[in-house]
Amino acid sequence: MKSAAGQFRDHIKNEQAIKRQSADAPKPAKGSCNAECNRKACSNPNATFFNFSTHKYYCRSCAMQINEYNNAEALELFGHALCIDTSPRQPRIKTLKGWEESGLDLSKYLMAAPCEIDEGIFMHIGEAVAPYFCAGDFVQCGEPDTHLEWGLELMPLRMTAVQQGERYFYLGVLPEFSNE
Ligand SMILES: [Zn+2]
Repeated sequence: MKSAAGQFRDHIKNEQAIKRQSADAPKPAKGSCNAECNRKACSNPNATFFNFSTHKYYCRSCAMQINEYNNAEALELFGHALCIDTSPRQPRIKTLKGWEESGLDLSKYLMAAPCEIDEGIFMHIGEAVAPYFCAGDFVQCGEPDTHLEWGLELMPLRMTAVQQGERYFYLGVLPEFSNE
């Protein structure tokens, strides 16, 4: 049986070997999905537009040009533009600006909880009034949003958000976290 220190050294060695391998791995071919744009004169990365004629991938700006040149022909052949974006749609982040423009109560604006929010909304939940709970990466709004009947008592429910690295998520109107 190896010592803990020996096991740890083995672990580090393995990690380093894996890192070396991935650095040596050949680059994905030009024109393949998410790789370099297929157009010869273009070296843009993250090609996500699939060309139905060449069956290769192109960056957005090349794809737009190709689509423009071939618009009528492509429509006739495929019933759509020649190059189509295959990247997954980014989920829309709820922003402080979006909320202000909506004119809604914040909890109404964030109805679709759990959802991603920007730093502005996260700060608003934590700072509009002194937060009720603020520990680790969680904050709960200082003012209860609603109350839930719990036997004879009313249990306050509070807007709750969490920070994950550089992203922020609103979790919903939740029972109070305990500080104990
Ligand atoms: Zn390109």
